[in-house]
Amino acid sequence: MMAAISAAMAGDETRLIEKNEKLGKKLFITGKGRCNVTNACDICDFFDSVCSNPKFLYSAVYGFDNSSLMAFFEERKVPLKTERGNRVFPVSDHSSDIIRALEVQLKDLGVSVSLNTEVRELITENGRVTGIRYAGGFEEADRVIVATGGLSYPSTGSTGDGYRWAKATGHEIRDTYPALVPFNLKDEFVKELQGLTLKNTGLVVLKDKKTVFSGQGEVLFTHFGVSGPLILTASSLMKGGRGDFEIYLDLKPALSQEVLDKRFLREFENGAQKSLSNVLKELLPKSMIPVILALSSVSGEKKAGQVSRSERERLLDVFKHMPLHFSSLRGYNEAIITGGGVSVRDVNPSTMESNKIKGLYFCGEVLDVDAFTGGYNLQIAFSTGRLAGGA
Ligand SMILES: Cc1cc2nc3c(=O)[nH]c(=O)nc-3n(C[C@H](O)[C@H](O)[C@H](O)COP(=O)(O)OP(=O)(O)OC[C@H]3O[C@@H](n4cnc5c(N)ncnc54)[C@H](O)[C@@H]3O)c2cc1C
Repeated sequence: MMAAISAAMAGDETRLIEKNEKLGKKLFITGKGRCNVTNACDICDFFDSVCSNPKFLYSAVYGFDNSSLMAFFEERKVPLKTERGNRVFPVSDHSSDIIRALEVQLKDLGVSVSLNTEVRELITENGRVTGIRYAGGFEEADRVIVATGGLSYPSTGSTGDGYRWAKATGHEIRDTYPALVPFNLKDEFVKELQGLTLKNTGLVVLKDKKTVFSGQGEVLFTHFGVSGPLILTASSLMKGGRGDFEIYLDLKPALSQEVLDKRFLREFENGAQKSLSNVLKELLPKSMIPVILALSSVSGEKKAGQVSRSERERLLDVFKHMPLHFSSLRGYNEAIITGGGVSVRDVNPSTMESNKIKGLYFCGEVLDVDAFTGGYNLQIAFSTGRLAGGA
């Protein structure tokens, strides 16, 4: 939609072709229906939240940055507000307001919109795009912008068609994978912990003994494994989850090993006549206690005053390095974004035009770019769309 707006602003006769019965099906569900439209961070910091190919995005993001995007919507009667973590939402909390503003702008600029129209392939001649073929016909065009999204949440229309067209016209497609996605774990205990949210938890992910991710935040246990903001962020750096990963939780990230040991000594002394399970209620959510005791090989029946030094050390080790056994990332149906895609080496970062086919442009999630949660992915889609359109 932004690419079509931009092309029309640049003076091109523009047609937007959408296979769904309406525009912006994915946009509608973003930010749990509230649409976290961008992040109001200092624009220099924006790129720290981009996981793949941040440098490729410099021209696009500096050319149409978060303040330009916010001004775009506010000028079109969508007041915005900034929440925790610089996340920007419409004041109304309705993603439909964002979609409506884009639709009104498309109409005002005279963009013709064809709904229920599925593009099948690109038509090229002598290294130049000349049009597109769709079910039941074709359309000639001097310029074609591919904005088909990735593979995530395919029910919204993103079914990877753009990758197929790009490949068929000689572009490299970097392996795609679900990103911002929960993990499946092998550990049987996840079933006992299902529904538990740990608020301030440390997470470390290692691959081949090297740290891939280290951070602190919220982890949610589910029937299959783990989810929650911290897990989603880590998943994007696991690039498809291929390989051997070691994952550890730190249940008390604010306390050093020594300080936690002192706390243990104090709690165990105060509750010396109580069972260890009972005393651990001061330190852990109830459902975690049997799991931590089993992982530490310490009996919860034991009186707290009788816990030996080596038992205390084992507990300490599990509190600070609780191991989770990674099985795989969940699938595209649950992934907020798709990693991989059209190689940025085949696209000119100053224009978004293909380096292989003249007049062909790519923007948004179809490209091999992805970022963390917080409004960055939509800003990338809007910025690259704006640049591809040429306004
Ligand atoms: C649940 C969820 C929540 C999210 N929340 C946020 C958020 O709050 N903030 C944020 O920054 N990002 C969020 N994202 C990510 C964000 O939605 C995407 O990064 C963004 O939508 C990508 O935009 P796009 O235009 O490239 O692709 P899409 O939004 O996927 O749009 C692609 C369009 O192309 C159409 N299309 C595909 N193939 C064809 C074809 N063959 N013919 C015709 N039309 C076709 C599709 O139907 C679709 O309408 C979220 C994603 C999900 C899944």
